[in-house]
Amino acid sequence: MKYINIPRDLPSVHKLLKDENVEGLVKNYGVLLVTRSAQKILERTRRLLLEGEPTSFEAVIKILKDEIGRTVQSSLEPVINLTGTVLHTNLGRATLPETAIKAITEIARGACNLEFDLDTGKRGDRFKHCETLLCQLTGAKSVLVVNNNAAAVLLTLNTLANRKEVPVSRGELIEIGGAFRMPEIMAKAGCKLIEIGTTNRTHSEDFEMAINSKTALLMKVHTSNFEVKGFTKSVSTEELSKIAQSHNLPLVTDLGSGSLIDLQKFQLPYEMTVTDALKVGADLVTFSGDKLLGGPQAGIIAGRKDLIEKIKKNPLARAMRPDKITLAALHAVLKLYSNPASLKQELPTLRWLTRDLVEIETMANSLVDIMQERCPGFTTTVVPVLSQIGSGSLPIDRLQSFALRIASDKQKKSNMGVNKLAKAFRNLPTPVIGRVAENALLFDLRCLIDQQNFEKNLESLKIS
Ligand SMILES: *Cc1c(COP(=O)(O)O)cnc(C)c1O
Repeated sequence: MKYINIPRDLPSVHKLLKDENVEGLVKNYGVLLVTRSAQKILERTRRLLLEGEPTSFEAVIKILKDEIGRTVQSSLEPVINLTGTVLHTNLGRATLPETAIKAITEIARGACNLEFDLDTGKRGDRFKHCETLLCQLTGAKSVLVVNNNAAAVLLTLNTLANRKEVPVSRGELIEIGGAFRMPEIMAKAGCKLIEIGTTNRTHSEDFEMAINSKTALLMKVHTSNFEVKGFTKSVSTEELSKIAQSHNLPLVTDLGSGSLIDLQKFQLPYEMTVTDALKVGADLVTFSGDKLLGGPQAGIIAGRKDLIEKIKKNPLARAMRPDKITLAALHAVLKLYSNPASLKQELPTLRWLTRDLVEIETMANSLVDIMQERCPGFTTTVVPVLSQIGSGSLPIDRLQSFALRIASDKQKKSNMGVNKLAKAFRNLPTPVIGRVAENALLFDLRCLIDQQNFEKNLESLKIS
């Protein structure tokens, strides 16, 4: 192997492309991609040479191969979520049921009647596909599906309250992850936020006093990710609805998660359902498709027909419309809700939220020895933990669960810290994501399904 010590001795792009190792790359990935990668690599190598780091022709070829490998590899890949947060926004929120995956594949494969009426042979309405089921499941007179709940809120406010005032309780001016801040959304929607009451206490009279001829609607926001405790008072949807009605204003409720079923039936904490919110007087409700509903990313606006019609006519609606894949998946998920008896089995989100504690513990016990063996220098034990629902659903409530706790073992002198261990798990063929707490790595097993594949995956764990 001949060392290259100065930039002048580096091969040209042309020469690299002629190399027999690179010809294969050109054949597979095209001359353009390989040329660009080669230019980038040569530039980087030149800088390193100037810093006094020698290289070789063979080394340059290898770096080029690796670089192209990384470029063409999808950066979006499946992971195993053992964080203990069931609806983890950073890990893609809800996992879709098999029926939805099947529906996606069928629709993605070819043409479909997305906006085509098979009866008349004329142009159809894309929103029809989920409308009937959504109306039935929520009791709403009409619905509109958009890309996500942030879009649902923005579109609703822009349609009904542009250049007008919207009073919202100070205690509900939320920020949720990913820079969704209610006051900012309202500003972008073109409406003027009127802050009502104080952070901890808002009364009916506060709303009464704020209403004037410029008021467009009243709004209630579900405080998804926090709870105000102590000396507090908020105005319920029911009370707010009475005030709205007496002033002939619509009441819009941003439910955030918006469950379609009463979770108490599954021994879970109560979360206001869409049906309940409409029943107690909300004129429109907005909620997410990929939170408690357990479906694809989507935002749903449900409620009064006249208001939904107005929203549909807003030109912004076109910019927020869902694609056929989303609609196919959403429909398949909604269909599962029409059969409540099998819902818990069929819908992964609900299956995991209601998972039997003994089942989780049994799985933990059957994995502890394998994990101990795979992580020399650490001590693995089974510990009780509390899972979170996540995505701003039921922020306070926790679910009892079991985890594998992998702690560094001082006596055994592990030369690897817990953070490095966590990284090793993230480097697995299917990355495993846990959480680090009190100098240990915790794997909450609530969302683990395929134990066999999990064990196989662990065989590639590299601990040094
Ligand atoms: C999650 C949430 C949103 C945003 O929903 P996305 O589907 O993430 O766009 C808006 N409002 C509330 C109250 C939420 O909890």
